[in-house]
Amino acid sequence: MERIAIFPGSFDPFTLGHQMVVADGLKLFDRIVVGVGVNTSKQGLLPTEQRLALIEDVYRAEPRVRAVAYDNLTVDFADQVGAGYILRGLRNGVDFEFERNMMQLNQTLNAAIMTVVLFTPPEYVAISSSFVREIYRFGGDTTPFMPDGIQLNDYVK
Ligand code: ADP
Repeated sequence: MERIAIFPGSFDPFTLGHQMVVADGLKLFDRIVVGVGVNTSKQGLLPTEQRLALIEDVYRAEPRVRAVAYDNLTVDFADQVGAGYILRGLRNGVDFEFERNMMQLNQTLNAAIMTVVLFTPPEYVAISSSFVREIYRFGGDTTPFMPDGIQLNDYVK
């Protein structure tokens, strides 16, 4: 049986840190579906379709990864795409508390879906989407934090 994981998040935008999680995830799973959660309460930089376009551009040559938007429960989205696993990345102690709570809630909602959390290599710990958005808004160079060849400006509408 194919091992499929979803990698859920906001991905506003998808960063080098996210790319590292996917790279490690591909060692464990046959396919990864990056789930772009549509969150109405967060003020975003990129509209959902541009978040998807960016991720699709990163994985144009990698058929094992695709990006899909979702606006339902993460465990229901996992079911929908036939995934048995939820992949998440862990940077620090703040992430830890949050990820543990999410894991427990999702476990209660659907015990058949396992959460797998991967540690971030130290050089990527400081990268966050909110940090990248801030740098972008103040006119700084975001390319050191983005996947190779990705210019954030190409996706901002
Ligand atoms: P959310 O809004 O759900 O936190 P994000 O898009 O910020 O969504 O992050 C999605 C996942 O990627 C989360 O598990 C988060 O911890 C992880 N992540 C974010 N940045 C990094 C990073 N630099 N290294 C590893 N994991 C990361």
